[in-house]
Amino acid sequence: MREQDHYDTIVIGSGTCGATLARELSGAGQRVLLLERGGPAPATESVMGFVAIADQVKVGDQLTTARALTTGGSSSMYFGVVNYPPLDEFRKLGLDISAELDEVKRELPIAPLPDRLIGEQSQRLGESARALGLDWNKHDMLIDPAQCEGDGYSYRALWRARRYVDDAVASGAQLVQRATVGRVLSEGGQAIGVQYRIRKPLYVTPPREAYAPRIVLAAGELASPQILRASGLDEIGRRGFYCSPGYALYGLVPGQQARDNFVGSMGCDLGDGVELGDANVSRFMHRLMMLGKGKFKHLRNYPQSIGIGVKIKDGHGGELRADGRLRKTLDAGDRARLERGEREARRVLEKAGARDVFNFGLSVAGRVGGMVAIGEHVDTRLETRLRGLHVCDGSVIPDAMRGTPTVTLLSMAKHLSKHLLQRA
Ligand SMILES: Cc1cc2nc3c(=O)[nH]c(=O)nc-3n(C[C@H](O)[C@H](O)[C@H](O)COP(=O)(O)OP(=O)(O)OC[C@H]3O[C@@H](n4cnc5c(N)ncnc54)[C@H](O)[C@@H]3O)c2cc1C
Repeated sequence: MREQDHYDTIVIGSGTCGATLARELSGAGQRVLLLERGGPAPATESVMGFVAIADQVKVGDQLTTARALTTGGSSSMYFGVVNYPPLDEFRKLGLDISAELDEVKRELPIAPLPDRLIGEQSQRLGESARALGLDWNKHDMLIDPAQCEGDGYSYRALWRARRYVDDAVASGAQLVQRATVGRVLSEGGQAIGVQYRIRKPLYVTPPREAYAPRIVLAAGELASPQILRASGLDEIGRRGFYCSPGYALYGLVPGQQARDNFVGSMGCDLGDGVELGDANVSRFMHRLMMLGKGKFKHLRNYPQSIGIGVKIKDGHGGELRADGRLRKTLDAGDRARLERGEREARRVLEKAGARDVFNFGLSVAGRVGGMVAIGEHVDTRLETRLRGLHVCDGSVIPDAMRGTPTVTLLSMAKHLSKHLLQRA
């Protein structure tokens, strides 16, 4: 074992959780190794930029979800919608993250979008929903309006985990990109290190090893369960997962003159596990989506476009198979909720004057979660039965606490960092 391969903490994955942990721990003087599967390509809103980082993962016969495999993880392509962690639910599990939530709120620009940044299509959708009696409200967003030139949309204005990666590196963390961790190494029930390979332009290196008394697995809700299985924790994912499936519906409003827009700024809860939300994506995203579906009339008419999303709470089910694939089938209750959501969504679009309405098709509208359960697979320190191996990412968020998870993940990562610093 070479001295230079030893660290205080190894963090696997540089997304929201991994970046926060690496920043907090290296800022406090720890020797941190941050291993990231993705490369250094700067996150940009361009076709080549997205093709380089976006990864579609099948979750069921009709269901797919997306993630970003790059430095900064999925925050490179998320929408910045904020749901707050249900603190009482977390307390019931023995985890008090209220102080860390306050810290996150102090550190980051979190607020509803000012009206000047809400495009005509979103304003119209909101008016139509409210006219139909729906409780359509603004969401808080992780968006800094000061970064928006004029009154317009800006990709730069969203908070990205890559900023925390830069802070971590400035504080001395060692970032290794294109490093895919296969498994965690252990001895006598204690995690001691990780095995990873580096992807070079023409080949992949033989396995390398690095060692630390504390390992944090933050490879994301899809990758972490697989790494845990490969590390001998066979029980992970056996009881299935949730994935919050949904639809997006798009139409065209003749005469509308919409400009570029932040998606997700408003929505409403219909009750019984059905939510509607603003699906008026940016011009760039709209182009990619309509091209992908071959909807050329919509593609040409962004200023007239109007969109609404449906998301439901599905039951916990499906499985993570031995070959690493996820499989889930929706039950009759899920389908009934999807149908109810679609009916309401069509009513809102029609009221808004939309024509040529089409359903973009079923996909995972929320996140995949619940495969690494707090209280079952990890304790209140997010530690697995392998001592020294912690899991901190979307995979540990329990069913009852699902929502758009970024602020919850930031708070959890800060909470875990404090614990790791106390134990060091
Ligand atoms: C299109 C889209 C829109 C979204 N919108 C919102 C929103 O509005 N609000 C919200 O709160 N959330 C949103 N999300 C979800 C949010 O972005 C993610 O939940 C969050 O970024 C997850 O953070 P994480 O740290 O758990 O994992 P990730 O961000 O997925 O980070 C995991 C990292 O680990 C790396 N990795 C994976 N496997 C390995 C391996 N074997 N070895 C080493 N590294 C590995 C990945 O490359 C990645 O960088 C959205 C997501 C998407 C895709």
